[in-house]
Amino acid sequence: MAVHRRRAAEAESTIVPRFTRAGMQHVPKDRLPEREMLPGTAYQIVLDEVMLDGNARFNLATFVTTWMDEEADRLYAATFDKNMIDKDEYPQTAEIESRCVTMLAELWHAPYGAEAVGTSTTGSSEGCMLAGLALKRRWQQARRQAGQPTDRPNIVMGANVQVVWEKFANYWEVEPRYVPCEGNVFHLTADRLLEHVDENTIGVVAVLGSTMDGSYEPVLEICEALDRYEASSGVSVPVHVDAASGGFVAPFLQPELPWDFRLPRVVSIQSSGHKFGLVYPGVGWVLWRDAEHLPEDLVFHVNYLGGDMPTFALNFSRPGAQVILQYFQFLRLGMDGYRLVQQACRDVALHIARAVEDMPEYDLVAGGTDLPVVCFAMSGEVSKYTVYDVSRKLRERGWLVPAYTMPPKREDLAVLRVVVRNGFSHDMADLFLRDLRDATRWLDHLDAAMPHEEQPSSFHH
Ligand SMILES: *Cc1c(COP(=O)(O)O)cnc(C)c1O
Repeated sequence: MAVHRRRAAEAESTIVPRFTRAGMQHVPKDRLPEREMLPGTAYQIVLDEVMLDGNARFNLATFVTTWMDEEADRLYAATFDKNMIDKDEYPQTAEIESRCVTMLAELWHAPYGAEAVGTSTTGSSEGCMLAGLALKRRWQQARRQAGQPTDRPNIVMGANVQVVWEKFANYWEVEPRYVPCEGNVFHLTADRLLEHVDENTIGVVAVLGSTMDGSYEPVLEICEALDRYEASSGVSVPVHVDAASGGFVAPFLQPELPWDFRLPRVVSIQSSGHKFGLVYPGVGWVLWRDAEHLPEDLVFHVNYLGGDMPTFALNFSRPGAQVILQYFQFLRLGMDGYRLVQQACRDVALHIARAVEDMPEYDLVAGGTDLPVVCFAMSGEVSKYTVYDVSRKLRERGWLVPAYTMPPKREDLAVLRVVVRNGFSHDMADLFLRDLRDATRWLDHLDAAMPHEEQPSSFHH
């Protein structure tokens, strides 16, 4: 959530709804009204207000789901009162969560025999916090047992990680060690990893589907580098895979790619049900390859709602409806359906990438071959305008396309990024390309260079 400051009272702190009912002409914006109003009035006021938000279907910035079947909408409305934590009142919702965990364990190749454990979360962010905490606690326990100090834990990751890992390191007091980008590779690679790893490393985070350019980090090579490190030092460093997006793409589009529990060094994986898991905002998943990797002393047993339920979560109450929607999507689509949806996204991404490649103004940076994400920068020939100008110009046509700089050591490179999600059709892609060409032509034809203000230094989504 944004941290909001209390606002100074405005002189005319009212909005004027179009209602003429006595007493309804003035509605305070930032204090509780003295009296109640009819629900229909409140409904219209709030609806009118949020109408000013953007149209989510034009938002090419986000990875988060903005379209589901109508039946999902109805199921959502029928289940929005369910509280995920109240497993005694809603045992069937708990059962559905458990089935989803089991399906994901299978999808991500958790070994048979060892019992994978996992839970739904509020998006990937909570999943990352929980997985990171488990890494830290396991490292502390092992160090204590060996009679060694536990005061300087660190976590190693690429400089391209999503902001959640910065948060994890800050909130749980773990030193973040970012491996900077080099050349034209914008993510963590195995070759420069070991310089940053030592006996105080609680784990390495590998990202399957970088936020920056949609690329997959080479999880297998990262694991192999850590195997070599273990052979020479005796220190075993576990890997967590941040598969926020890739967890629901790679199993369908790149099934041969070993990035998951097939690699013994991968101890936990988290993913966003509300990204390519194809569910509306609010749900994520985190799984451990076996119970041993989730320290028992992090698990709370609550019984005040009746029954005994082990939980590992940062929140207590949370909506259960999105978990139900995840199960709906699993049943509705199955393996083939997910494959079709993700393949369609990838086809559209490849189409956009090819078209952009043909435009002399742009250099393609990522072409949608890992995640269906297309990134492009201005080519050397363009001097009159920047990616920020293109982004602003596209906004006139309703498209939200973020422009941002790449992570440390490649901050010189600014790109535009298009995320292709379910619901972004070939038709829409062609409309987008038309508008991109028009915007580019308009900028090309300017008599002088665009004036340049200060740009935001980075973008996180
Ligand atoms: C989106 C994302 C996150 C955060 O996920 P939320 O589900 O939005 O909390 C973490 N890591 C990566 C790589 C992401 O793309």
